[in-house]
Amino acid sequence: MEHKVNSEKSSSELISELEYPKSPNAIKYLNELTLKQKQDFFDSFDLILCDCDGVIWQTLHELLPGSPEAIDYLKRQGKEVIYVTNNSIIPIGMQLKKFERFGIEVKKHEIVHPAQTICDYLKSIQFDGLIFCLTSEAFKSLLREAGFDVVEELVGYVETLDDLRAVINSDDPVKAVIIDVDFNLTASKLMRAHGYLKNNSECLFIGGAADTLITIGGKDVIGPGPYISVLENTTKRKALILGKPGVALRDFIMEQHKIKNARRCLFIGDSIVTDIRFAKVCGFQTLLVLTGTTTPEDLQSKLTETDTPDYVCERLADLNGFLS
Ligand SMILES: [Mg+2]
Repeated sequence: MEHKVNSEKSSSELISELEYPKSPNAIKYLNELTLKQKQDFFDSFDLILCDCDGVIWQTLHELLPGSPEAIDYLKRQGKEVIYVTNNSIIPIGMQLKKFERFGIEVKKHEIVHPAQTICDYLKSIQFDGLIFCLTSEAFKSLLREAGFDVVEELVGYVETLDDLRAVINSDDPVKAVIIDVDFNLTASKLMRAHGYLKNNSECLFIGGAADTLITIGGKDVIGPGPYISVLENTTKRKALILGKPGVALRDFIMEQHKIKNARRCLFIGDSIVTDIRFAKVCGFQTLLVLTGTTTPEDLQSKLTETDTPDYVCERLADLNGFLS
């Protein structure tokens, strides 16, 4: 994924050229803070919730230089760091290896991602029943390994109406439909999910990542968000969203990480919609980095209060040695 940062000018220079309106809610640029303001900012949080794709690395395998050193610095200054990603398409074992390969020490419980959150949620409500997944295989495996029953059959190619009937008219006693990133999502899978949700009001409707767009290889592609909307619109039901920017994820994180005061948390992300909006709803402080989906020009557009980050810096690496 390519950087979208203008390498010639700093973000704050670009913004000032674009005459971003100054207001009480004006974004603060970390590189413009005085030493005292830097100290105050740094002392204002204990826990960092950090997105991964577009913040620590790019979507594929490219590390953003200086990120591990910045994380190490923050930890040495006594900050706790947990990672909040919408990426459940990579098995957790591979995720852990990725952190290790980049020299970042992490424990499994420090990575929050939709498959694990949904699994924990289902356990918390003592869910017992069959699950129909519109997700990756890695997502399904995690559920199976936790002891849940997942519909195994693959929805095949549909040519005729008879094929379609065979695919969508299922007698499986499905009690939950889960939707996340599914590269093999088809209209017939959505139709089948719709049937489960429409015909049984008790059937749980759960969403993971709800991004409208996800970035793959530097290009924006359709994320799960619009497909979740298709099911919501056609069933007249609301999914319980347990990935960013779902509000239900807030309660989970607050409880799981025993957060008493949300203002003592700093959320670092690269997406206004997925990260900043989510973090603002949670009451966290927010820091936007410009190494992912958001460009300085995006910040110039009219942003609502919930879409306006408190702080902006060019890259996570800017936090390395922040107070020195
Ligand atoms: Mg991201």
